[in-house]
Amino acid sequence: MILLPHMEGKTVAALGLGRTGLSTVRSLTASGARVMAWDDDEGARARFERETSSVPAVPDDWPWAELAGLVLSPGIPHTHPAPHPQVSKAKAQNIPILSDMELFVQALGEKGERAAPVIAVTGTNGKSTTASLIHHILSGGRFGAQLGGNIGKPVLDLDPPGERTIYVLEVSSYQTELTPSLAPEVGVLLNISPDHLERHGGLEGYVAAKARLFDGQHPEDTAIVGTDDAHGKEIRATLEQRHNDGVGAAVVSLAVGRTLEHGVYVKDGHLFDGRTDEGLEIADLRKAKGLPGRHNWQNAAAAYAAARAVGAADITAALMSFPGLPHRQEVVAEARGVLFVNDSKATNGAAAAGALSSYDNVFWIAGGEAKEDGLGAAMEALGTVRKAYLIGAAAEDFAAILQGKVEAALAGTL
Ligand code: ADP
Repeated sequence: MILLPHMEGKTVAALGLGRTGLSTVRSLTASGARVMAWDDDEGARARFERETSSVPAVPDDWPWAELAGLVLSPGIPHTHPAPHPQVSKAKAQNIPILSDMELFVQALGEKGERAAPVIAVTGTNGKSTTASLIHHILSGGRFGAQLGGNIGKPVLDLDPPGERTIYVLEVSSYQTELTPSLAPEVGVLLNISPDHLERHGGLEGYVAAKARLFDGQHPEDTAIVGTDDAHGKEIRATLEQRHNDGVGAAVVSLAVGRTLEHGVYVKDGHLFDGRTDEGLEIADLRKAKGLPGRHNWQNAAAAYAAARAVGAADITAALMSFPGLPHRQEVVAEARGVLFVNDSKATNGAAAAGALSSYDNVFWIAGGEAKEDGLGAAMEALGTVRKAYLIGAAAEDFAAILQGKVEAALAGTL
């Protein structure tokens, strides 16, 4: 557990008592803070009472004038579609709204003198894969890498920093907004495509939230930016300008399918570091079993650049031995010449497009709830699809969108 000595003796409210909320309450309490904990959901409050043997505090009874901060769990809206009522109340009283990750980075110390460096990964897709891959690369060597954040292990549950610790954090766009002190020593922005727009008041707000990852970085820090989409290209240009002005981090660009003179890129499945004179080949990613598909090449390029930035060795071998993550391009069976792939984490068009482009003859089970852009980028990747089997709430909408493009059946259930 990470202790928060700077919160000792302070009164702090925690809203949301899921896994992250519970972890926040535990760290704050162990650090000598007085915690007002609440969740609008009765079941979550009951679990909190059982697991902590303390009692939730009704927001109306919080000592509002004394609150040093309101810590929000990731699921709670603080701006869009509408701020949670307690958030509005806190804002009206100038009480800082924070994430657990903000408390975590504050505990590491002042930027420039942190107890351990932070590698932070954000992007619409590939965050978990890339953060896990960086952790995998750094686990083999002289580093004591720890992985946490949006990936499922709350940051305050990580171990305190030791001499060789590097923290690898998966950061969602909500977390970048509520973690103003993050300024990672190495920041990675993989890609941006429309997702979660309702939480950010549209695409512009979403892009701005992602770009905030790089705020406060120092010139000796590293900003790694995927430039395969227009937003990434724009952000890269802004960051390069900042670095040239002597304020922002050094920028490393990433690309898949294009050569970059001063960046890290993948061409025909081969990973190159273009920052050397003749473009040094790092790995043949087509041989990396745990990283199938072009989209994973982007993740591999990012992980390589991040690991290089902290001086890791043996990166090529680690790329090859990465086992991959469950539910992302996970091969679950092969029977009578048919490969069964679970990619149920593909919850937006760009992720589905990556999956569909990775194989030739796809029988595609798709459904769930539709995003604002329908099937989005997946519409560009239908060439490999032989037939779609549609399930869930969006089945009929998807059938209408696919009509005349791909044969589709309303399958009802999985
Ligand atoms: P995140 O943590 O950002 O949700 P994951 O690594 O869990 O990302 O992958 C989520 C989904 O996105 C999976 O379906 C995966 O196959 C797909 N995906 C992974 N990396 C990328 C990428 N770089 N670009 C597009 N899709 C990707």
